[in-house]
Amino acid sequence: MGGITLDGVEKWFGDLQVIKGVDLEIAPGEFVVFVGPSGCGKSTLLRMIGGLEDTSRGRLLIDGRDVTDQPPAKRGLAMVFQSYALYPHMSVRENMGFSLKTAGAPAAEITRQVDEVARVLKLEPYLDRRPRDLSGGQRQRVAIGRSIVREPTAFLFDEPLSNLDAALRVEMRYEIAKLHRTLAATMIYVTHDQVEAMTLADRIVVLEAGRIAQVGSPRELYERPANLFVAQFIGSPK
Ligand code: ADP
Ligand code: MG
Repeated sequence: MGGITLDGVEKWFGDLQVIKGVDLEIAPGEFVVFVGPSGCGKSTLLRMIGGLEDTSRGRLLIDGRDVTDQPPAKRGLAMVFQSYALYPHMSVRENMGFSLKTAGAPAAEITRQVDEVARVLKLEPYLDRRPRDLSGGQRQRVAIGRSIVREPTAFLFDEPLSNLDAALRVEMRYEIAKLHRTLAATMIYVTHDQVEAMTLADRIVVLEAGRIAQVGSPRELYERPANLFVAQFIGSPK
């Protein structure tokens, strides 16, 4: 589960075309990283997959189902962004269980799910704390935990670590890689950090002005960049 297909996807903001025909097949369980310079369309493309932006042209499919015109709630995806607003008046446990509660899940089921996710993310000692009593990295883990409890088929991350300091970024990068192995869920991850891209990705998608410049494994892009733009972006010696 969690295969995602982009079929000739375009995005126009008025007269400005920012996504210019993207075709991409993402396998279930794959870790795909979008990279490219600021303004190339990474966030827009991710938001279109998540349903936060509508698709001007083309189709989006999840597990073969056309979701192009479906609202975010019907897509079964979890979205984690760099600004992870937690509810300040709620405990970690309440924050993590909130979406299940609003979906009408029974209390015992919410407790079971939150305990399980807290175990995976090592958040058990913090379940009764408020967000203000957590470190930046712990808060980011809660934000990820909150998205996991809904058992999404895929995760969309938009520069989730860019507000953290360097040491925490390394730790969280490791946590996300572990999470990917544990959940075996599809992940699409936007970053402008080459090291994050190279270490996390099964495949990297290099975007240039709304188009795919190249798609490949980190090794393929490093050893055989399609052009100078990719080479410079990946930091390979071409
Ligand atoms: P990235 O995430 O790669 O930095 P974005 O997807 O945020 O790039 O933006 C791609 C382009 O689309 C940019 O030129 C940006 O100014 C433009 N853009 C993004 N959102 C909007 C919007 N709501 N209205 C108009 N232009 C937008
Ligand atoms: Mg962006």
